[in-house]
Amino acid sequence: GSAVFSGIQPTGMPHLGNYLGALRQWVKIQDEAPQDARLIFSIVDLHAITAPPRDGHGKGEWGAGGGGAAGTLRRYKREALAVLMAVGLSEERCTLFWQSDVPAHSELMWILSCQASTGMLSRMTQWKDKSAKEGAPNQRLGLFSYPVLQAADVLVHGATHVPVGEDQSQHLEFARYTARAFNNAYPLSPSSSPPVLREPTTILSPHKRIMSLTTPTSKMSKSDPQGAKSRISVISSPEHIRKSIRSALTDMQSDRISYDPETRPGVSNLLDIFNSFDKEARTPEVLAEEIEDIRTLKHETAEAVVQGLAGVREKYLDIMERENRKYVDRVAAEGAEKARKSADETMRKVREAVGLGGKC
Ligand code: ATP
Ligand code: MG
Repeated sequence: GSAVFSGIQPTGMPHLGNYLGALRQWVKIQDEAPQDARLIFSIVDLHAITAPPRDGHGKGEWGAGGGGAAGTLRRYKREALAVLMAVGLSEERCTLFWQSDVPAHSELMWILSCQASTGMLSRMTQWKDKSAKEGAPNQRLGLFSYPVLQAADVLVHGATHVPVGEDQSQHLEFARYTARAFNNAYPLSPSSSPPVLREPTTILSPHKRIMSLTTPTSKMSKSDPQGAKSRISVISSPEHIRKSIRSALTDMQSDRISYDPETRPGVSNLLDIFNSFDKEARTPEVLAEEIEDIRTLKHETAEAVVQGLAGVREKYLDIMERENRKYVDRVAAEGAEKARKSADETMRKVREAVGLGGKC
C-alpha cells in the first residue's frame, strides 16, 4: 500500500513558510488519502542537533531556554508536535513521533552511508548555505551527512510519497539515488522480487518558497539568526501578525505594486503569501494589478494571514494544557510505538539483504 512520510525539525516554532510549504499540504493529504494509506509525520530531533539550539526569543545559543541545550530541544519538540495537531493532523489517523524514539532511522543511516556519494553531498544547496555561515574550520560531519539521515527517514518506512517544500527536493533526489545504489549493491534473488528499498516520489507543495520578511532574498527559516522579525510563527496573535507584516521589508522602487521576485523580492513575497491564503485564488500577478499601493498590500495580506491561521493559536494552547501538560508526551509515545513497527519491517529485509544481525 502507499505510505506518506515527512518531517519537520524541532528548531523553533513553525512559521508561515513551514505551514504553506509543508504542514498545510500534510493536512490536505490526510483528508484525501485512501483509508489504507499509512501517514507518518516525524519531529526530526536528530536533524535538529546539527546546529546548536537557538532560544525561541532570539537571545541565545547553547544553554539558553532554562535547562540548557537539552531543555531547549525538549521544549521545541513538544511545541512542534502540538503544532502538528493544532493545524489539523489527527494523532489517531497519523503516526506522529519524535525521530530519536525510533533507533532504526540511525541504523539505516549508517548502512546507507556506505553507498552514499560524497560528491553528491557536497553539491547540496543546504550544505553550501549552512556550512558557509559556519565558516570552514567549524564545518561538522553531521551537517554534511544530513541528507543521508533524511534518506533513511523516508526509506525506513517504505514511503511512496514525500511532501516537502521546494528547498528539500534536492535531498529527495539524493534519497532516490541512494536507494538505487543500495538496491544495486544488494540485489535479491530471484531478480524478479521487488527491491528492498522503495524509491519515493516527491510531492512538491504548490506554494512557492516563502521568503524572510527582513531579507526577502533568503527563505523564511526557523534557524535564521535575524530572529523573530524575519518570520511569522503559526501561533502568532492577530496583532502580532499585523505588526510583522507592516514592518516587512519592501522597496522604494515605486509605490505601485508589481510581481517580479527577481527585482522586487519583498513585494513579491507578500503577493505570494496573499495568494496562498486568497479565497478567490487570485494569482500574484492579478493581485498586483488590483492592489493600489504597498500600504494596502500589507494591510490586505495581513488580514488574509490572520484569517488563514484563525483557530491554530487557540487549539495549540489547549493541546499544550491537556492532561496536566502530559498529553503531547503520550501522543509521542504512542506514535513511536507505531513507527518502530513500521521501521522494523524494512530493517528486517535490509539486515537480511546485507548479512547483518540475526542468524549467520
Ligand atoms: P531550519 O532553519 O532549522 O532548517 P526550516 O524553517 O527550514 O528550519 P525545516 O524543519 O527544515 O524548517 O523544514 C520543514 C518543512 O518546511 C520542509 O518540508 C521544508 O521544505 C518546508 N519549508 C521550510 N522553510 C520553508 C519556506 N520558507 N517556504 C516553504 N517551505 C518551507
Ligand atoms: Mg530547513
